[in-house]
Amino acid sequence: MTPTVSQKVPLGALNSLGVSATASHFVEVTERAQLQPAIDWAHQHELDVRVLGGGSNLVLAQTVHALVLAMRLPGREQRAVYDNGDELWRFNAGETWHDTVVFTVEQGLCGLENLALIPGLVGAAPVQNIGAYGVELSDHLVGVEVYDCQLKGWRYLHTADCRLSYRDSLFKQEEGRFVITAIDLLLSRIFSPRLDYGPLKSLAGQSGLTAQQVMEEVIATRQSRLPDPTELPNAGSFFKNPLVDTATRERIMTEWPNLVSFAQEDGLWKLAAGWLIEQAGLKGKHNAQGVGCYEKQALVLVNPLRAGTAAILDWQHHVQARVEDTFGVQLEPEPRFWR
Ligand SMILES: Cc1cc2nc3c(=O)[nH]c(=O)nc-3n(C[C@H](O)[C@H](O)[C@H](O)COP(=O)(O)OP(=O)(O)OC[C@H]3O[C@@H](n4cnc5c(N)ncnc54)[C@H](O)[C@@H]3O)c2cc1C
Repeated sequence: MTPTVSQKVPLGALNSLGVSATASHFVEVTERAQLQPAIDWAHQHELDVRVLGGGSNLVLAQTVHALVLAMRLPGREQRAVYDNGDELWRFNAGETWHDTVVFTVEQGLCGLENLALIPGLVGAAPVQNIGAYGVELSDHLVGVEVYDCQLKGWRYLHTADCRLSYRDSLFKQEEGRFVITAIDLLLSRIFSPRLDYGPLKSLAGQSGLTAQQVMEEVIATRQSRLPDPTELPNAGSFFKNPLVDTATRERIMTEWPNLVSFAQEDGLWKLAAGWLIEQAGLKGKHNAQGVGCYEKQALVLVNPLRAGTAAILDWQHHVQARVEDTFGVQLEPEPRFWR
């Protein structure tokens, strides 16, 4: 099968930061059978392969000199039903993540409700082990179907093989090697709410609480706090919450007793990056090209004028330098960079 490769394809509408980038080569993948010929074609033409989902966690170069595979594989299916109320479901990579959450909740399947309204597609969910309101994908992921570009073949990776941790995975560590085509999730007909985070705490103790209600609360909270990328281009949280040891936390707290931090199981502390940026005086501030920190949540980098990568990098470096000067802590960007 010869792939249908388009050239010089605009990506401006395909990334949530609104960077008007162009892909030198581009293929839309709607069937598994298209994948291997497209990857072989890229190798024959000495092009890197880049996988594009919903473009909501990407900082694009002006020209992406690569074969961009836009993952559009649709479909979902029930794979197993267990006596304890658990069900195993497969979702293909091109499904929209939020629609998947809504679908499962409407089916009476619980587990994903805290992850509602995260932009992007299913195939990208394991890449940074998406998480919100105390739940991560890894809590429900059983395994991932991938095409391994290095071994040139199809593989099934169980969750333990995916090296999932906070905003990290095998797919980030070995970027470019795997194309995720489907994920398998274990969900439950028995509702065990996870309400230990932020505004969800107010729902604790409510009798007859349903997954639908939790999902609605998550959606309302996110809509009130996060900018809609279609109205104000952004890539969500731009920096990871830094992990520090106890000595570093105590050092910062001598000057900043209100430091927002969360104890981790491994003895480290997760600091709230948004709080650090806000205290460094950058909330609502921006550079000459309009790139800046969102006025309601400093962790979100916004790009209202759809400036290019250079302006985004300029603001990223400015934020990192200010936070390092103020707290002696380094911030690591969360999105992936296609340079
Ligand atoms: C407003 C907003 C809010 C957000 N909130 C959250 C949040 O609460 N929690 C959270 O974790 N994230 C959040 N994000 C980040 C983002 O939504 C997630 O990282 C999401 O999973 C990205 O999906 P995507 O399809 O847009 O991926 P893309 O941006 O298209 O790609 C991201 C990376 O994944 C790779 N990739 C994509 N698809 C595949 C595939 N099929 N196989 C292999 N690699 C692939 C890409 O090559 C790239 O490296 C938010 C973003 C925005 C804009």
